Order: sequence, then structure tokens, then C-alpha cells
Amino acid sequence: MINILKSISILSAVAAVAGFAFTNIIGFWQAFAVAVVLQIIIGSIVNSFKLQKFEVEELHSNTEFILNKSDVEVECPCGRSKQSIYLFANDPVITLECPECKNKFRVVLNVSTQLVTEPVNLDQMYDVLKEKQFNENSKIGTSL
Ligand SMILES: [Zn+2]
Repeated sequence: MINILKSISILSAVAAVAGFAFTNIIGFWQAFAVAVVLQIIIGSIVNSFKLQKFEVEELHSNTEFILNKSDVEVECPCGRSKQSIYLFANDPVITLECPECKNKFRVVLNVSTQLVTEPVNLDQMYDVLKEKQFNENSKIGTSL
């Protein structure tokens, strides 16, 4: 709210100065109105450039983040050279040439899955086993 009042007062002050400057040529209120319109047009153009610059910076930042996440260092099977490459899941095989042994080698991105398990709480293990034993004994007792 304070920013809006500040902007309106600056806009009015600049328009009033323009009005006084051109009062003998086109009249105070005509110059005032032209100055207000010009300031609004120039302000919107400047804001759109600022927004585009912000969007480009954000895109650049996101791209750099993704590239940093995909940057891997691979070693030739000969063991004499290492190369830094970008490896992506949609391009899982990359063929490189070793600068030392001059052989070509492939880098293969191999995606696999692993089952996630919870660690066993040993403090409660005795109670769990005792309850399991009790349940098995009670089943045997009912079936007989
Ligand atoms: Zn090599």
C-alpha cells in the first residue's frame, strides 16, 4: 500500500514538472496527462524486461541445477584417464574415446530397484517372538 502511494506521488510529481515545463506550449493539464501516459507505458515496458530477465535467470539456475545433478566422472577401463560427462536417464548409453589409449569405451547407465526394509528393533524382538509362539500354541490347542 505504501509502495502504491509512493509510486502515485512520484508519477504525479514528474507529471506536474512536465506540466509546468510545457504549460506555455500545450497547456499544464495536457502536458500532465501526456506525462502520466508516457510514464505508464515506459514503466510497463521496463517491468516486462525485468520479468523476462528474471525468467531467463530462473531457467538458467534450474538448468545448472539439473546439469550439476547429472555430472559424473567416468574412468576409462585402462585406468589412465578420467572424463567428466553429463549422464541422463533418457540417454543411458554414451560412447567416449580415451585420450590416453585412444580406445572407445561405453558408459552405460544401469537403473535397478532395491527393496527397502525396516531395521529390526532387538528390544522388542523377544516380545514379538513370544507373542508369535503363543499364537501358534493357541492355534494348535484349538485345532485339537
Ligand atoms: Zn584408456
